[in-house]
Amino acid sequence: MATISMKKDIDWKPRRKSLQVRVRDMYIGSDNPVAIQSMTNTDTGEVNSTVAQIIELHKAGSELVRFTVQNLKMARAVVDIRKTLDDLGYNIPLIGDFHYNGHQLLREVPSCADALDKYRINPGNVGFGDKHDDNFKSILDVAKDHDKPVRIGVNWGSLDQTVLTKMMDDNTRSAVKKSAEDIMVEAVVESAVQSVNKAIEYGVEPNRIIVSTKISEVSKMVKAYQMLAARIEQPLHLGLTEAGIGSKGVASSSAALSLLLTQGIGDTIRVSLTPTPGSSRAEEVNVCRQILQSLDIRHFSPLVTSCPGCGRTTSTTFQEMAQDLTGYLQERMPEWKSAGYEGVEEMKVAVMGCVVNGPGESRMAQIGISLPGSGENPSCLIYEDGKQVAAVKADVARAEFKKHLESYVTAHYSKKA
Ligand code: SF4
Repeated sequence: MATISMKKDIDWKPRRKSLQVRVRDMYIGSDNPVAIQSMTNTDTGEVNSTVAQIIELHKAGSELVRFTVQNLKMARAVVDIRKTLDDLGYNIPLIGDFHYNGHQLLREVPSCADALDKYRINPGNVGFGDKHDDNFKSILDVAKDHDKPVRIGVNWGSLDQTVLTKMMDDNTRSAVKKSAEDIMVEAVVESAVQSVNKAIEYGVEPNRIIVSTKISEVSKMVKAYQMLAARIEQPLHLGLTEAGIGSKGVASSSAALSLLLTQGIGDTIRVSLTPTPGSSRAEEVNVCRQILQSLDIRHFSPLVTSCPGCGRTTSTTFQEMAQDLTGYLQERMPEWKSAGYEGVEEMKVAVMGCVVNGPGESRMAQIGISLPGSGENPSCLIYEDGKQVAAVKADVARAEFKKHLESYVTAHYSKKA
């Protein structure tokens, strides 16, 4: 079922033109869908737990997974991680995150260099003085030898001090002085651009490079990517680094990524949440998907519109129903997709607490249910395509709504529909 896009009616810039970079069997940049990435927090040297988390992230929707490679044990484990995933049928691209000793690890363990699908290089952490360029070139030589793309990932927490110091000195001598914060942002961008130019000078093809400039403050991060987008043609990996825990991390990442994506900037994204103890690492993938879906950039599973509830929803019936139906849709999606139900991920579902806004929202969704409010009497109204199709008692409302949902999906999204 086609949906109406509102993007043309708002100030929404077209996607920035960028090169297309191949990573394993997928492509990033140009007109390819904005890809979702995540990063493990297991010990990469522990193959079983790392494989389990990669699969968890992948099942949640992560299209590429990165992990740290910081010593020989981890570098050797990468080969087993790749093999185990291949044996289990997971073709997911794997990215090695290198700092300080990537040039040594990739040389010492060529099978690791081969097993990885992309190397992340932080130009601020490849060595200092004369060693900086030698180590940087050494990693790039390995990438060329193994035909792997790289991400030049600048992070303001580990910014190349040579670039920053020079720009600070230039500012001191300049007649028109900029703030230290502005110089910092410009230095992040300059470090990325210089590194891209150097990589190309060392023989890396321009379409084998992805770039990021991660900063932990929204406005500065957005500014850095805007500047970067105007200066290079490589695909950009977006992320607000160290976004934080809980709602702070979700809100600030959503704000930062949305501002850039609506300006057409961004080819891959990651949300760097600090997980709450015991929570799933996959939450960062869920947030990525919700951001892309909320912006109508990609669709993954039906969106549920539900009101916050108020004094008119005095029981927990409405909250339980909204939670249950949201979970039900997510559970059913894999089966609907494998049955070839095209476009079901774009279906809009409403679950509303009372008659104030319930019937209106339910009519605007493809399918919706509106509870009556306090006491849940006399009945819950079910709507399909703007028309009321049933009125059911509260105690059977969930089951009845699911029946309507299933027949609606079959009637509208199956191949026969
Ligand atoms: S739709 Fe009804 S229950 Fe929901 S927030 Fe509005 S008034 Fe409250």
